[in-house]
Amino acid sequence: MDTRFNASSPSLNPHADLPPQLAISTHPWWTSVLLLFACITLAGSSTAQDLKVTLLGTGSPQPRMDRFGPSILVEAGKQRLLFDCGRGATQRIEQLKVPFAEVDALFLTHLHSDHVVGIPDLWLIGWPRGRKSPFRVWGPAGTKKMMAHLEEAYQFDIHIRRDVDEKLPAQGVVVEAKDIEQGVVYENAGVKITAFTVDHGLVKPALGYRIDFKGHSVVLSGDTRPSENLIRFSEGTDVLIHEVMDPEAFRSKNPSVTSERAQRVAAHHTTPEQAGTIFARVKPKLAVYSHIVPGDTTDLIPLTRKTYSGPLEVGEDLMSIEIGEKVVVHRPPP
Ligand SMILES: [Zn+2]
Ligand SMILES: [Zn+2]
Repeated sequence: MDTRFNASSPSLNPHADLPPQLAISTHPWWTSVLLLFACITLAGSSTAQDLKVTLLGTGSPQPRMDRFGPSILVEAGKQRLLFDCGRGATQRIEQLKVPFAEVDALFLTHLHSDHVVGIPDLWLIGWPRGRKSPFRVWGPAGTKKMMAHLEEAYQFDIHIRRDVDEKLPAQGVVVEAKDIEQGVVYENAGVKITAFTVDHGLVKPALGYRIDFKGHSVVLSGDTRPSENLIRFSEGTDVLIHEVMDPEAFRSKNPSVTSERAQRVAAHHTTPEQAGTIFARVKPKLAVYSHIVPGDTTDLIPLTRKTYSGPLEVGEDLMSIEIGEKVVVHRPPP
């Protein structure tokens, strides 16, 4: 199912007051035909030239079959960039039929295990599946060290496949890791990636990312409680993908978790009401939830509507969002 949000008219809000037929009734009939033609052309052209975002995993640490671990694929022109690599990211990439060799780089928001546990799978299976150049990983302080430890941990497999058995190309398993801080961290063929600091409570450092391409952009919050810095870096963005936690649902679905621990967890994240306030200030053409805690909460939309009335989608695994003249959401078939 597709949902289209007109990115260039004032009626971005699906609850806008003016019916569309009223908006065109003052023009001659052929204006409507031209407008229709223009819409079809724009919709048809929203392909390789646009920014395309696919939610590979919209879950959290809790293992679920319907929401894999956090991971988002951003395609901009010919570049394919991955943000976080949670549980099942490799399966989702395979499901999309994206060749592993064509995943250009991995960016990490922070080093909580739910965001990085899929790295060895992608790194080591992407290699026999065709990657011939180094596996590039950018992330906050500690990324380089973590990747060096992973190289050590998987020495047996690397040695056997590279030197003894399959004789796979040595370059394909090399890791190029880099610790990054707030600022522009990547610029290539029209794609600009800016990392910015978010507020994940005691979990420091934690980053969000803004990806700009050909006049369009998407912001990924990573894990954060409400962050003024995120609002600053989200200015003018087309799409804001934000994490969310429903504390009431979390408590009721995890009765064994003490209320003190539940409060501590909630203090690291953003409630739907708080996210709504952020969306209302940023005014993206579309707001999307991902990293949904707990994964089966059903109250996100009503709670968000207390503070925000604009375009909003609750993310699901394999939902994709094309960002061009229009913002078009494709939901995976049920
Ligand atoms: Zn997380
Ligand atoms: Zn986290």
